Amino acid sequence: MPATIEIMQGDITTLAVDAVVNAANNTLLGGGGVDGAIHRAAGPELLEECASLGGCETGEAKITKGYRLPAGFVIHTVGPVWSDGEHGEPELLESAYRRCFEVAREHGVQSIAFPAVSAGVYGYPMRKAAVIALKQALKASEHGNFERIIFVQFNQAAQQVYREAAATLGIR
Ligand code: ADP
Repeated sequence: MPATIEIMQGDITTLAVDAVVNAANNTLLGGGGVDGAIHRAAGPELLEECASLGGCETGEAKITKGYRLPAGFVIHTVGPVWSDGEHGEPELLESAYRRCFEVAREHGVQSIAFPAVSAGVYGYPMRKAAVIALKQALKASEHGNFERIIFVQFNQAAQQVYREAAATLGIR
């Protein structure tokens, strides 16, 4: 069975899924946006485990436990900072999503929720970022290991962009 791909509005820190993805930075030592929210909700043990990981390259992903989150794991990935799209940004964002799915699969994760990686402070245009995210989800969905792949947007406008991107890709 292919996974269901879901688009929803909400706060990713509240989701009881096997893994939530964090849009982290290269240090993995916390930051603003979704990263700050995840660390606040997970508690200080998350930062302790992150500090032992030696950072994370852009386009890579590393996994930790979820601690006080309802999610069992946090998969920390680092998306690219957008400059103009001509500096490898699409390839790096694609790699970030691909690596999240690979790490998730290695840990038996069947339900996974993603924020809009790079589309906040890192400035990646939301529509372009959504298309990359959804294309990688379609690929992962074909592998059969996942039950639910969820894209969580913090606000209504972003959710609408995801829904439109999904429609152009034939995702209902
Ligand atoms: P980046 O630095 O990779 O751009 P940000 O955290 O700045 O990451 O933003 C990524 C996206 O996550 C933005 O669209 C932002 O609105 C959204 N976001 C922030 N907090 C949350 C949250 N608690 N749940 C879901 N999405 C969130």
